[in-house]
Amino acid sequence: MRPRDLHRYLNDVGWADSPVPPERPSGDRGTVAQPDADSLDALGDSAEGCTLCRLSEKRSSVVFGEGHPDAQLMFVGEAPGAEEDRTGRPFVGQAGKLLDAMIFAMGFERSAVYIANVVKCRPPGNRDPEEDEMTACAAYLDRQIELIKPRVLVALGKPASHRLTGTSKAMGAMRGRWASYRGIPLMPVFHPAYLLRQPKLKREAWADLKLVMERLAATSND
Ligand code: URA
Repeated sequence: MRPRDLHRYLNDVGWADSPVPPERPSGDRGTVAQPDADSLDALGDSAEGCTLCRLSEKRSSVVFGEGHPDAQLMFVGEAPGAEEDRTGRPFVGQAGKLLDAMIFAMGFERSAVYIANVVKCRPPGNRDPEEDEMTACAAYLDRQIELIKPRVLVALGKPASHRLTGTSKAMGAMRGRWASYRGIPLMPVFHPAYLLRQPKLKREAWADLKLVMERLAATSND
């Protein structure tokens, strides 16, 4: 079992004080995403020692992502929060509970989709990730998407939508409209944390997710 999996397991079974996995030997520090990593596990291992940006200094865990390695549907959020940093898993806090409900309402188990973030380490105070942090982490996300080859991508919130569409439009102008990322259909949707603060917008988010479901159904025989 890899150190981060052991750490995750111990936390999952309630041993919340389990020690954070030790740093890799100094020769390993600064490991960069291996753009040629041929599996998600190998790519995740390379992320474990990453010190490409300042976010590595304060993290407890690298939150690489989780889900089905051949998922047809992939969600991309912006960055881990406190609970994600503690557990090493994406979207496990309050916003994660709402994301789970959205995924379930779409007819999927959480384990059937893939969930990742633009940056893999928690920004202090849950601020938005900065441009240079997203750029430093880009090779991980790009390769993750390349390996998973989802049929549809859902970008959750503004930072993920901006990053994946390469635009800087307002969320209201992007949501509900198909964009694409390297040829993969991409739907920007309001971030679940935003929906918790603005519950009236859940109606719009659901309309956008229905477009995603229609697209998946229409292309299921491709
Ligand atoms: N918000 C995100 O964007 N990602 C997470 O993993 C959790 C909260």
